[in-house]
Amino acid sequence: MTYDLRLTPDALNTIRPYRAIHRRKSRQIFVGNVAIGGDAPIAVQSMTNTPTTDVQATIRQVNECAELGAELMRISVPDKESADALKQIIPHCPVPIIADIHFHYRRAIEAAQAGVKCLRINPGNIGSDEKVREVIKAAKDYGCSIRIGVNAGSLEADLLNKYKTPTPEALVESAQRHIQILENNDFFNFKISVKASDVFLAVAGYKALAKVCDYPLHIGITEAGSLAAGTVKSAIGLGTLLWEGIGDTMRVSLSADPKEEIKVAYQILKSLGLRHRGVNLISCPSCARQAFDVIKTVEAVEKRVEHIKTPITISILGCVVNGLGEAAHTQIGITGGGAGRHNVYMNGKPDHKISSEELVDHIVGLIEAEAKNVR
Ligand code: SF4
Repeated sequence: MTYDLRLTPDALNTIRPYRAIHRRKSRQIFVGNVAIGGDAPIAVQSMTNTPTTDVQATIRQVNECAELGAELMRISVPDKESADALKQIIPHCPVPIIADIHFHYRRAIEAAQAGVKCLRINPGNIGSDEKVREVIKAAKDYGCSIRIGVNAGSLEADLLNKYKTPTPEALVESAQRHIQILENNDFFNFKISVKASDVFLAVAGYKALAKVCDYPLHIGITEAGSLAAGTVKSAIGLGTLLWEGIGDTMRVSLSADPKEEIKVAYQILKSLGLRHRGVNLISCPSCARQAFDVIKTVEAVEKRVEHIKTPITISILGCVVNGLGEAAHTQIGITGGGAGRHNVYMNGKPDHKISSEELVDHIVGLIEAEAKNVR
């Protein structure tokens, strides 16, 4: 017996209204060739954790992250040697580089001269008006944008005094001070973040900021924690903001390899239908009904298809209980079958069967072939 499990257009239309996310209208800026804000896709970024002076290690990490989908990478510039290293690093980076600067205006100018496309620096922390003007001039001369990066952990003393503790209002007031400085210097090529490690504070801060300006927002839950804990926290915090249409570029901050940050960011975006990159894998937790080892199969497949960039949806379920329904929505569907023969569905239709031994290689082959076809 054959089944046509594809959803009809009518069925799809009944589902779509639940999926609508109305993005906040922000003005668009560019970080190098990457558009941020407006109708541009939400850009994914991470940050290197190698010593910047270790040029080869930093180049390698930027390239590894870019391969996984990082569209921007940030590099710390704590000293003159790091600023000098940027000159050797940037020519080997496939994505625009953002320099992370704290306080020292000279490092910002050197980074701009070295070719970074964005300076993460708070103008209110630079010092005299003259130094601020010099940094803004360098940004203009070298085509750099700026990110105002307010952080609940480093709010100005007078704001802490006024609000007693970091609050959404304090984050926004801090951001507005920095905005004012840039605007007073006729500089509008910037984005803003108001990060906090507390999900409630970060979300409330971003929501309040989104109401008072139209600059693009870089969203993040700072110092979110380890891979598992930080992923959950980021998914709740960033997921809430994105669901409400807030956020033009994002970084997931994990105490983990930066590559994990990229993967988690895309998972969040994919979950909300905001970006479609690589394999979207639907799989069951497995139970006594599983006809093959679901967990091992999913782990093996996931690892082997990390390089795929084309959006492909696949379901891997241990039996037919929910397997048929999931296969209806996916390009490739696998459900466990009897006697060690498992069912393969292509675009919702039963296609062929495969044995347990061949399963992983076979699924990877199907995904790779599908990626070539739809590319
Ligand atoms: S799909 Fe089947 S094997 Fe997987 S959890 Fe559900 S009942 Fe168990």
